[in-house]
Amino acid sequence: RRMTYELHNPIYVNIGGKVPMGLKRKSLRIVVTGGAGFVGSHLVDRLLERGDSVIVVDNFFTGRKENLLHQLKNPRFELIRHDVVEPILLEVDQIYHLACPASPTNVVGTLNMLGLAKRVGARFLLTSTSEVYGDPLQHPQVETYWGNVNPIGVRSCYDEGKRVAETLTMDYHRGLNVEARIARIFNTYGPRMCLDDGRVVSNFVAQALRKEPLTVYGDGKQTRSFQYVSDLVEGLMRLMEGDHIGPFNLGNPGEFTMLELAQVVQDTIDPNAKIEYRPNTEDDPHKRKPDIAKAKKLLGWEPKVSLREGLPLMVNDFKQRLFGDEKESTG
Ligand code: NAD
Ligand code: UDP
Ligand code: UDP
Repeated sequence: RRMTYELHNPIYVNIGGKVPMGLKRKSLRIVVTGGAGFVGSHLVDRLLERGDSVIVVDNFFTGRKENLLHQLKNPRFELIRHDVVEPILLEVDQIYHLACPASPTNVVGTLNMLGLAKRVGARFLLTSTSEVYGDPLQHPQVETYWGNVNPIGVRSCYDEGKRVAETLTMDYHRGLNVEARIARIFNTYGPRMCLDDGRVVSNFVAQALRKEPLTVYGDGKQTRSFQYVSDLVEGLMRLMEGDHIGPFNLGNPGEFTMLELAQVVQDTIDPNAKIEYRPNTEDDPHKRKPDIAKAKKLLGWEPKVSLREGLPLMVNDFKQRLFGDEKESTG
């Protein structure tokens, strides 16, 4: 690390099970871009709980202030409304870069955060995606697989944007000595997930709760691997703290067809929920399942929460947001 910024009042914190009992390390200043979003807000909770100081940079494009309401009074927490497409000056030790709309602006935002990391000597973690594998010709997907992405397809803005973000991250690492970490995240679900972005888990759960039919696209035989958000956050933190750049697949290897997922949703929420078939979207990957041997070996990480255990954990949060329970959802 080229430069370490000291906190004004350094406090020493115990980082839990990761170091031998009694060993403490200095509290870090951490920026989480996209911290008002689904994954980011859970990550922020864990980092604050651990004793670090957290700055969230978010333009509330898809994120919500409600996801962080319970932290607003925390003196170690700061929320900045800012679009990462615009440069920003901060003094921090670590950058978790999650901010990302499905558009080319994710490249500019990544460039700015890498520039920031370079200037202050912060460690930079990119949340990339399993989408970099495209419609994979190798199954399950190993990190060494280069992927099968259509560069001019309807999904390519997101896929190629993340691929460029990975390239930039590696270039800043190799050429400019930025300490880099890359996570390739597979489908993740849990409380605070966006209600209306059309993801399959949020769609099915919301549909079942509203007593609407579950919309299965295509024949429903395409597969995905669904990871519970707390497992992902644990993986991201281990990656950031560890010595390995990656990329690392972070996902749950349990593989489900969309019809099997619908069955789990029926069993969990409403056994009478009907299924309605809809035409599938273009370029939809047929299957997706992470090989997580690398993360297991080098990060000592593997998911703990199965789909059948995790799905019920998001139902109350969805009920509150859908049907306007007066209590705030804190997940
Ligand atoms: P999300 O939409 O809930 O969170 C993204 C956050 O980034 C939001 O709060 C949004 O307001 C913010 N944001 C977007 N553009 C911004 C900009 N230009 N400036 C500042 N803030 C901006 O999504 P999520 O599911 O929490 O995803 C977090 C990260 O993980 C993303 O980078 C996403 O690509 C990646 N990822 C997620 C999944 C998943 O299944 N959830 C899978 C693969 C990768
Ligand atoms: N940047 C930023 N905050 C910083 C340092 C840089 O937002 O603290 C932005 C900067 O404005 C530029 C990008 O990050 O658009 C890349 O910065 P870098 O210094 O790597 O590139 P350069 O400015 O030399 O082209
Ligand atoms: N899907 C579905 N019904 C829905 C939404 C999505 O059957 O209401 C399917 C979609 O066609 C895809 C899978 O679920 O095959 C996962 O879609 P999602 O957008 O959640 O994740 P991604 O395709 O990005 O992995």
